[in-house]
Amino acid sequence: MINRKFFLGFIRIHILYHANQEEIYGVQMIQELKRHGYEVSPGTMYPILHSLESEGFLKSRRENVSGKIRKYYKITSKGEKILQESRQKINELIKEVID
Ligand SMILES: [Zn+2]
Repeated sequence: MINRKFFLGFIRIHILYHANQEEIYGVQMIQELKRHGYEVSPGTMYPILHSLESEGFLKSRRENVSGKIRKYYKITSKGEKILQESRQKINELIKEVID
């Protein structure tokens, strides 16, 4: 996807938003983003989740789900902080671009 880089920030914020609501996992987020019009392959999603974790915005735990290990992610306090900052910036962007 040629626009992937451009929309990467939106996707990252979207993931943080949901990880703030509940525990999330990769396939679930791929479906959620599809619902919002983003086609994100597993080869794109998993590196995004991994980098959000290594940057300290998400933390994960592993659970055995019918014989398969699934990694669940939730937001960290650092992630909550950046999400709050993002909200302000999105608001500002909407005012400029949409209104
Ligand atoms: Zn959503």
